Amino acid sequence: MVLNLIFLGPPGAGKGTVAQAVMDKYKLVQISTGDLLREEIASGSELGKKLAEVINAGQLVSDDLVSEMLSKDLAKKVSDPNFRGVIFDGFPRTQSQAPLLENILNEVNQKLNAVIYIESSKESVVKRLSSRWTCEKCKKVYNTVSFPPKKEGVCDDDGSKLIQREDDKPETIAKRYDTFIEKTSPLINYYKSKGILYKYDGNVPPLASIKAAEEIIEKIVKD
Ligand SMILES: [Zn+2]
Repeated sequence: MVLNLIFLGPPGAGKGTVAQAVMDKYKLVQISTGDLLREEIASGSELGKKLAEVINAGQLVSDDLVSEMLSKDLAKKVSDPNFRGVIFDGFPRTQSQAPLLENILNEVNQKLNAVIYIESSKESVVKRLSSRWTCEKCKKVYNTVSFPPKKEGVCDDDGSKLIQREDDKPETIAKRYDTFIEKTSPLINYYKSKGILYKYDGNVPPLASIKAAEEIIEKIVKD
């Protein structure tokens, strides 16, 4: 059976870790729009040149261009005799992009099997992400939970002060969380209405989160 999946979740929900584990277990491939953009530009193709122009002008890459790129890459992956399915990363981000992905999949006789939403509270995401501290001198990154410095607030290597980067501050993380919920709720409702939305409580350690995702997939495979 082919499994085409999307994982949704706010930044800090552990989406990357879960997607990687699922990919390994079920021998899936990933299509990341960010990676595709970088590769296409590096290749120097006509499309790559167009993309570079848009990005260099500080503009957002249009849905049409992203679709073209995705479509090209998906066709290549589907034609591989070992193709078992794909996890889409970075697209769709909004509800208006969802039908575009459906078209792209239709073109190669594929469909989206499931959208797995890793539900995480703002509190747990802030707690998880705001544990990052950076040395103001050598930029070494510490994690107060998993990789704390020997002496609180001080770099092990050079004794400099540890600071919190703007991105790692609780208020920045909270704002990103709100943006995610606001932008993604319509997309989540869209997939719910299509009957392919599955969700689980992501406020758990990584291994438990992976297990919950795999349980959902096992159910889908059986049905
Ligand atoms: Zn340092």
